[in-house]
Amino acid sequence: MMIIMKDGATEEQIEHVVDRLESVGAQAHVSRGKYKTVIGAIGDREKFITLPWEAFAGVEKAVPILKPFKLVSREFKPEDSIIEVGPLKVGGDQFAVMAGPCSVETEKLLIDTAKLIKKEGGSVLRGGAFKPRTSPYSFQGLGIEGLKMLAAAREETGLPVVTEVMDPRDVEVVGEYADIMQIGARNMQNFLLLKEVGQQKKTILLKRGFCNTIEELLMAAEYIVSGGNSSVILCERGIRTFETFTRNTLDISAIPSVHSLSHLPIIVDPSHASGRSELIESLSLAALAAGADGIMVEVHPKPEEAWCDGPQSLDFNGFAHLMRQVKSLATSIGKKLD
Ligand code: PEP
Ligand code: MN
Repeated sequence: MMIIMKDGATEEQIEHVVDRLESVGAQAHVSRGKYKTVIGAIGDREKFITLPWEAFAGVEKAVPILKPFKLVSREFKPEDSIIEVGPLKVGGDQFAVMAGPCSVETEKLLIDTAKLIKKEGGSVLRGGAFKPRTSPYSFQGLGIEGLKMLAAAREETGLPVVTEVMDPRDVEVVGEYADIMQIGARNMQNFLLLKEVGQQKKTILLKRGFCNTIEELLMAAEYIVSGGNSSVILCERGIRTFETFTRNTLDISAIPSVHSLSHLPIIVDPSHASGRSELIESLSLAALAAGADGIMVEVHPKPEEAWCDGPQSLDFNGFAHLMRQVKSLATSIGKKLD
């Protein structure tokens, strides 16, 4: 349920509603919008639905949220959420470019790649230190050594870093190094992990599972936000279809769909969506044109030597070309890259 406060409702009136909700065991999530304050009530609805909310001073009305996701819904917060990571903003009219190798390999390679990304106008460095691999025999990532290399690359370039966390037991250590913690497609419904990152004060990049619906993606985000962490960026990274030419199928419709259903920003990962470097530019431009809040692309100085996902990685020239195209389209549709 949402309790919509009147314009100009006082802090005491808001506090009183929050206290009353908490007194019946509900959680109260206060969203202070440009025009209105809305209080989301989460918990056993029978306990609070019958209270005479409209008799409370400062309350305009109480309305049920009909969707299964509440706090991430547009109904709860009509304005776009702008997620701030240091000086970086994701959402609204900003377009974020996250880029880097699939996995962290060596410090030098990572720093060279980070410098290129920075020079071409990218905003975040990506790189996996804990890698979810289909085969137990494939390279599993450098672990904490990889996290240290990411921190060194941040130190060198000033770029914030995004890296995956796969295990609730690693959340603390990954959080010490990462600016944004990624929940990968395979873990989108790892509810223990979602609850754990919901307790953190750190931005979470939540990737859509390749067999999950948009509603399931938003329910996964609801786990994180209801745990107390509202700093969430969603990511469409392709879903499994009957098509085999591409690794997955990029669901472009997820972008406007998520924007209509939720206030959270959504970026697109054309690398894992397509599995083919030659498709990255077209898919990135399509994502931008469809209203995405950013992209995340894999970049490697020598894709043929990459330890992981070489065929879908752009080389440095490919990334520079992509950035020129992205900047030109972004300018013409009123999106900002910095
Ligand atoms: C990744 O971004 O490193 C990754 C493994 O992607 P996904 O979880 O989307 O497969
Ligand atoms: Mn990859």
